[in-house]
Amino acid sequence: MRPLDQRRALALFSGGQDSSIVLAWALERFDRVDTIGFAYGQRHEVELQARLDIRRAFAGLSPDWRDRLGDDAVIDLSGYGAMSDTALTRNTPIEIDAAAGLPTTFVPGRNLVFLSVAAGLAYARGIGVLAAGMCEEDATGYPDCRAETLNAQIAALRLGLDADIRLETPVLATSKARSWALLEEIGGDALVDTVREASHTCYRGVRDAHEWGHGCGTCPACVLRAEGWSAYVAGKAV
Ligand code: ZN
Repeated sequence: MRPLDQRRALALFSGGQDSSIVLAWALERFDRVDTIGFAYGQRHEVELQARLDIRRAFAGLSPDWRDRLGDDAVIDLSGYGAMSDTALTRNTPIEIDAAAGLPTTFVPGRNLVFLSVAAGLAYARGIGVLAAGMCEEDATGYPDCRAETLNAQIAALRLGLDADIRLETPVLATSKARSWALLEEIGGDALVDTVREASHTCYRGVRDAHEWGHGCGTCPACVLRAEGWSAYVAGKAV
């Protein structure tokens, strides 16, 4: 089995709330943290700008983080995006598909594809740890966010690469409210404010200002984010 550097991480970084938290978490723990993102024709292409804004802001928050923040890569998966007949990449309504029992925002197997591509890049760079923001709170609709799925996939990647690669998912069992509190523990209100302002979650790619950040306010991602923020603020007030 090929040894990989366990002090280096590759963060799957979309520019959304969860992956921003994962990047902060990783910057606290690893000597160097590279980032990888995917362009797959998503409607929220504004996420790709959010990624750059957050990387820049994080580097400004701490000299240690600036030193540890490594290279960024955006991988073009537009061919994969084009085959997905879903609301994220086409102008179809965002709703629950009764037949599949899943939101129409579900791109089939998205996280499986992302993890495989990320593992390939990590292997090429000698990086031993993948850090990713899958969250089981999303897993009612997204079977590729389940711990069982992720455990099976990392086992397959270790076998298929014959390399000592690990997967860290620090917000897997964390509610959206708790994940804001986790950010506060890592970097205080300055970090919370940075992620609230700069991260992008809205499926529609809208950047209207709200107390909880930017978005349309009505798509499932915005609703979940708004609820999480309210619960976090309520928890602080106790
Ligand atoms: Zn929205």
